[in-house]
Amino acid sequence: MFMPTLREVPSEAEIPSHQLMLRAGMMRKAMSGVYSYLPLGYRVIRKVEQIVREEMDRQGGQELLFPAIQPADIWKLTGRWEDYGGEMFRLKDRGGRELCLGPTHEELATITLRDETRSYRQLPKLVYQIQTKFRDEIRPRFGVMRAREFIMKDMYSFDRDDEGCEVSYRKMYEAYRRAFDRMGLHYIVVEAESGAIGGTHNHEFMVVSDVGEAGIVFCEACGYAASEERADAAAVPEPESAPSLAADRSHARTIATPDVRTIDDLIGFLGVSPRQMVKTMVFVADGEPVAALIRGDRDVNEVKLRRALGCASLELAAPEVIEEVTGAPVGFAGPIGLKQAITIIADPEVLHVVDGVIGANAADAHIVGVRYGVDFTAHRVEDIRIVVAGDECPRCGTPLKGARGIEVGHLFKLGTKYSSRLDARYLDEAGQERSVIMGSYGIGITRCVAAIIEEYHDADGIIWPMSVAPYHVIVLPLNTTDEQQLKVAESLHSELEKLGVEVVLDDRDERPGVKFKDADLIGFPVKVTVGARGLAQCRVEVGLRRGGQTTMVGLDEAATYVSELVRSELALLSKL
Ligand code: ATP
Ligand code: MG
Repeated sequence: MFMPTLREVPSEAEIPSHQLMLRAGMMRKAMSGVYSYLPLGYRVIRKVEQIVREEMDRQGGQELLFPAIQPADIWKLTGRWEDYGGEMFRLKDRGGRELCLGPTHEELATITLRDETRSYRQLPKLVYQIQTKFRDEIRPRFGVMRAREFIMKDMYSFDRDDEGCEVSYRKMYEAYRRAFDRMGLHYIVVEAESGAIGGTHNHEFMVVSDVGEAGIVFCEACGYAASEERADAAAVPEPESAPSLAADRSHARTIATPDVRTIDDLIGFLGVSPRQMVKTMVFVADGEPVAALIRGDRDVNEVKLRRALGCASLELAAPEVIEEVTGAPVGFAGPIGLKQAITIIADPEVLHVVDGVIGANAADAHIVGVRYGVDFTAHRVEDIRIVVAGDECPRCGTPLKGARGIEVGHLFKLGTKYSSRLDARYLDEAGQERSVIMGSYGIGITRCVAAIIEEYHDADGIIWPMSVAPYHVIVLPLNTTDEQQLKVAESLHSELEKLGVEVVLDDRDERPGVKFKDADLIGFPVKVTVGARGLAQCRVEVGLRRGGQTTMVGLDEAATYVSELVRSELALLSKL
């Protein structure tokens, strides 16, 4: 067998799953973010794929396979040839035609179905593939968790109308729930985008884990859960009415703040709390500068800001732009006395800041004692802040909890985004031409493998759930030079195989300690140890990787005992 295990922890691997996939001989690095899957690793990948495949099929999905290499022109029609930016691997054929290695397949799926769909009678359709994807990630890391070449399941749904799409979406939601349950994963389903038009269009399945890259907030009281960057903020009550505010006397005065560059400097210098500060952040939205006001202890959520402004592109303004807009160096922007008349958008919390501090739009100067409505205003007031743990739940007001999550799956309602740009239409019952309503649904197969290991490991190695273990059982003769031990082990191995158990025989001439270490590292759920002492009583030892319990079992019943053990574990996972 080709299962090259490592004793040492490879220095490049920071998280347990990455370390263990290398140490257990599951994979080897080919280059940054690109891996060869070795036999043990590939067996696990195929098991995860098979679980996903069965759940897709259960919901009426049909498997197909699109090419990994794609023409540029379809991406140009949807505008994604530009939008995808540096993450797309691009190449040219010998004739100079532009191509890419597919990072995803919405375009290809849409035109493929379009060319064969005329009538409402041909809808709905659910097609999916399990395929290698290519994304030139800025920061590939954590092994297959964020790779540049990885395996994804991507499903595309095609429906007549929104109601149909809702049905497809629910089917996929159910398929995901079942698939991840069968893998033994524990997850939170989060709203990834609560649409401005109402309803939820986008869910992510997150495996809760300290190594997760995504922040999640969730409410234990009402079940609300969302990714940190997309979570809605709880409504902030309106402050006192405007007339009484206007009657308020202004206490504003400009003070010198030399050598004060950061918010922390300023807090120290003035002896104020971050909640008294109003940060003015200059962004460029579709080429136009805008100012966003946010409380000093908060951060701007660029996704929300983009949505509030209705712009396609949004980025932090470059220093030159900030200087032009404010007439001051970076670090002193404020809503009063900007050099250019630009749109100012304020987060609702800013309206409650009393005795506030803002930049003075002049070098080394701030204005203190300010208040919204008295000293400054904004053109618009909208939720543009990042919600964090401890904030109130937007639904029920309970303080939100925070966690980190690994995004293993994504459900997306696409509406007519692709069908309209790629002319995927059909004739409805009234003979009217309509755009197909689409959804897209991804599961990171290889990322799932890493997520499973994150959830199931200890200091000695991986502890595979039975459903995804590379093999169910290892038969381990302690001394292979002892002919009786070897014979018993070999016959147990073949008996188990006959019973349909996936079993490995460790007949290497190695010390028992080495074999035990490898068995624990690779994480076979069941280990059958054949040793001289047991055999003297016609018994072998059956041990479980999870929990470590061992039982002595008589030779004649050992095979049935083990196969029952395996079967009951598998049944448990498939019943979920
Ligand atoms: P992320 O936010 O992690 O970059 P994404 O939103 O780009 O993910 P999708 O385009 O929705 O991901 O892809 C579907 C699934 O593919 C994800 O849920 C994830 O499980 C997996 N995936 C995405 N990018 C990678 C990657 N670089 N390496 C491994 N798996 C990935
Ligand atoms: Mg991504």
